[in-house]
Amino acid sequence: MAMLATAGALLVLFLFNPTEHRFYPVCLFHQWTGWHCPGCGALRALHSLTHGRFLAALHFNPLLVLALPFLAYTGVHFFLREVASWPLRPIYVPNRWIKVLVAAFVLFTVLRNIPVAPFTWLAPPASPSTIVGADVRL
Ligand SMILES: [Zn+2]
Repeated sequence: MAMLATAGALLVLFLFNPTEHRFYPVCLFHQWTGWHCPGCGALRALHSLTHGRFLAALHFNPLLVLALPFLAYTGVHFFLREVASWPLRPIYVPNRWIKVLVAAFVLFTVLRNIPVAPFTWLAPPASPSTIVGADVRL
């Protein structure tokens, strides 16, 4: 069921560009503070990835793009273990790695809100036409 929901969500993201359609959720953190949360630009990044535009996706949310292989591995592992009952051991993440991940998450959030280059590259662009490879439809 989760795999079907993921495939459906990716299909919606493939068909409907988040910059053009208003049914996607808005980021309340960004709306209230004007700052970018770690997830800002994630939908636009996923839309770009579904169209094969890797660099555009990196520009929208580099943390998400870098984390996707690990998220996909975890999702497939969970599916195979819990749904398909494959005899796999649970994924074990040592505490120190969790601390490193949380620190990277916080650091990414702080850095992408510094309005000076090169940190501005970590924030999603206000206009998708400012990046190379972005999907700009007229
Ligand atoms: Zn956000």
